[in-house]
Amino acid sequence: MEVYKGKAKSVIEGDGDTYVMEFRNDLTAGDGAKKASKEGKGALNAEISAKFFEVLIDAGIDTHFIRFEPPTKHIVKRVKIIPLEVICRNIATGSILKRYPFTQGQKFNPPLVEMGYKDDAYHDPFLNDAVALALGAARDVAELDKLREITLKVNSILSKFLLEKGITLVDFKLEFGRDKDGNLLLADEVTPDTCRFWDVETGEIMDKDRFRQDLGDVREFYREVKRRIGA
Ligand code: UDP
Repeated sequence: MEVYKGKAKSVIEGDGDTYVMEFRNDLTAGDGAKKASKEGKGALNAEISAKFFEVLIDAGIDTHFIRFEPPTKHIVKRVKIIPLEVICRNIATGSILKRYPFTQGQKFNPPLVEMGYKDDAYHDPFLNDAVALALGAARDVAELDKLREITLKVNSILSKFLLEKGITLVDFKLEFGRDKDGNLLLADEVTPDTCRFWDVETGEIMDKDRFRQDLGDVREFYREVKRRIGA
């Protein structure tokens, strides 16, 4: 039985305490205003995300990931998703340039962490801790601090891993869930749909901005990310 259908993934009930998360070929941008389907994109993202989750688990991050079932499925622990998007930025680009007078390409040191409320009808608005708590999105400030702390740790691990592969981790979005025992687990996906990746040497865009900005060769660059990270 399908428990959830998102813009690029579907979640189906699995055995026991698991869900089956299926990566689809759908690509969307602008809260779903722009849509396309690219044959093979789901499989590429499933492989790429599996590799990143393995790297993160090896580095001590608690996640929902159990195993990759090729070509397009992840078997994951059942969690209830926290309705927050945790965004981490190392370099200024994208929507933040419309909100603040940062310049394109400006480096953030320390990295910036922001949270948005997961709700397309409201365009995933950024919120502060008081709003997050009033919405019931998190239990307390300590939990929000924990989400920020894990996100910064994920950023360190993946930035270092990707740099060795010639890729700059520009920014990314994470989602978290709680399992039945209340444990906080990294969930969802880590893919070129949810991260910005730039080639270290050339600055070439290797992520969903190729689709957002009609740059072409979306799958070719996703394939190149997969090749470089050894997924
Ligand atoms: N992001 C995402 N889902 C969202 C919003 C953002 O995966 O609903 C990712 C996006 O791919 C980028 C980072 O979070 O890697 C920061 O996105 P930004 O706020 O710049 O938004 P955008 O410019 O994509 O609208």
